[in-house]
Amino acid sequence: MRSWVEVSLSAIRANYRAVHRAIGGAAEIMPVVKADAYRHGAIEVSRALEAEGAPWLAVSNIEEGIALRRADIRARILVMADFLPRERDVWSEYALTPVVHSLADVPLASVPYHLKIDTGMGRLGTRAAPWEVVRAVAAGPARMEGLMTHFASPANYSSPQTAEQIVKFEAALQALCAAGLRPRYVHSSATIPVAYGRRDAWGNLVRPGHAVYGYVSPARGPAPTPALPVGPALTWKAAVLAVKDLEAGALIGYGGMHRAEHPMRIAVLAAGYADGIPHRLSNKGSVIAKGKLAPIVGAVSMDLTTIDVTSCPELQAGDAVMLLGSQGGVAIDAQQIARQAGTISYSVLCGISARVKRVYVD
Ligand SMILES: *Cc1c(COP(=O)(O)O)cnc(C)c1O
Repeated sequence: MRSWVEVSLSAIRANYRAVHRAIGGAAEIMPVVKADAYRHGAIEVSRALEAEGAPWLAVSNIEEGIALRRADIRARILVMADFLPRERDVWSEYALTPVVHSLADVPLASVPYHLKIDTGMGRLGTRAAPWEVVRAVAAGPARMEGLMTHFASPANYSSPQTAEQIVKFEAALQALCAAGLRPRYVHSSATIPVAYGRRDAWGNLVRPGHAVYGYVSPARGPAPTPALPVGPALTWKAAVLAVKDLEAGALIGYGGMHRAEHPMRIAVLAAGYADGIPHRLSNKGSVIAKGKLAPIVGAVSMDLTTIDVTSCPELQAGDAVMLLGSQGGVAIDAQQIARQAGTISYSVLCGISARVKRVYVD
């Protein structure tokens, strides 16, 4: 294989249990498995989470939900970002639960739904006043089973935005409860409010994605210490196609972006930006070769990446190196790659392309 990822399902399960311990029975857990479980594989990850007792799973669209049902996933499935009106009633056909994000759609809901309030994210969700929400929900043909919102800046403890969003959400919830329309589920927290213990945002259901895959983003401002011991579940490897020695002064790759200062040995890896290695790692990032960091030299190209292995003479063609993972006390995770590439860890994980084969390990 040229390049592949190894996904540890026991790490996924352990991360789920860590979330479970952190929540301590205060809320149910709805792991987010959208975007093919952040490239970890939605079906296998969902099976592992279901075996751990996850009562709900969240996906982005109907196709993702149907794929899970076809794989015999029985947990409740929330479809967070799709259209409600369909030609067929896929919602009841596949037992999927829609998120309604506009009051205009409430009369069209044929099955129990979760209503999303835009409390300040400025993305999906209704921005209607609480009394308008109450009126629409009361008149709707189906039951509002859940009320939800999503935070824009939960990791920024210098910003009042999350507190303001909580106040708006509470206002909508209180109005519904006062009208006798208390939802069974109330949820607003993804990974960050769980990891940093913002209990007033949990409601009775939380929606962690990143944490399930082993990540908690750093916070800004006066944040509490995160208390969620999770670890990456995915290791990304690439084969070494060739190893060669270059003389001092040799140029490497497109644009001659790197010049060998001294005689150097390089290895050519069978992975490039078409596999998801960010092009911005050109001349910048590193990989792990035989338990040591080996810098990326020259431009990352579509199918190939060159690394400096001068200090790793034992590496040979046919060996594998790690683009993401840990070996010999050295680790590279998606957050480090993201910092070097000027992006976010979510995008690094989701950017691992479909041609990178996935292998499951325990
Ligand atoms: C993706 C998503 C989540 C999960 O976010 P993480 O930061 O990965 O935990 C939760 N809720 C909604 C609405 C999302 O879109």
